[in-house]
Amino acid sequence: MSPSRKGAEGKGQETNASPVQIVPLWGPEIKYVLLDMDGTLLDKYFDDYFWEHLVPETYAEKHGITFGRAKEELMKKYKRHEGTLNWTDIDFWSRELDLDIPALKEQIRHLIEVHPHVEDFLKLLKRHRKKVFIVTNAHFKVLDLKMKKTNIGRYFDACITSFEMGYPKEDLRFWQKAQERLGFQKEKTLFIDDTEEILKTARRFGIRYIVFKARATSKKKPKPSKDFLTITDFNELCNESI
Ligand SMILES: [Mg+2]
Repeated sequence: MSPSRKGAEGKGQETNASPVQIVPLWGPEIKYVLLDMDGTLLDKYFDDYFWEHLVPETYAEKHGITFGRAKEELMKKYKRHEGTLNWTDIDFWSRELDLDIPALKEQIRHLIEVHPHVEDFLKLLKRHRKKVFIVTNAHFKVLDLKMKKTNIGRYFDACITSFEMGYPKEDLRFWQKAQERLGFQKEKTLFIDDTEEILKTARRFGIRYIVFKARATSKKKPKPSKDFLTITDFNELCNESI
């Protein structure tokens, strides 16, 4: 699948930016590359397993209830905080659930994996002297744990979390703060994320080049986006003639 021919930015456009049909990744048009972490660079299986299996299991044991009941209760709690800063705040969840969330994450750190061809892509970005940033909703403690485990931190000029910005990426204000902090020019920026809601906010903010990363987790079939240029694997962007 060639990303250069899959542009769908013309439809449902929410900004004044001109429709983008191609991603001129290796030319001077793109100077800044913003990358989401979980699901985009890293296999989201770790997070899914953590919240949908390990946490309910531990919660069930603590309260002497079944796994099914624990999961049901937790799903309701998760839902209430989705898309907010609480969702990203593992200290909040430690308090809310009375569990040591950072320690539980450590317990399954062996499940933290980088998606295929991510490192090839990051190396190419460096070779082409792009400014490369991680922009994540993850808590800084989780970012830290994942960078230590995967060793990909060396490819980035900076990493910012929604926690530091004070807003989640779904909020326009995140992007204003992020721009102040990182100093990118939105018309020369590519942003890749596996959450369409977030891509919509970035588009509204005016980020010019936007790509949806399908296959967030290695365990589920990828689904392409109807609204955004889609890749399922970073090797689709590693062709330097794009
Ligand atoms: Mg993500």
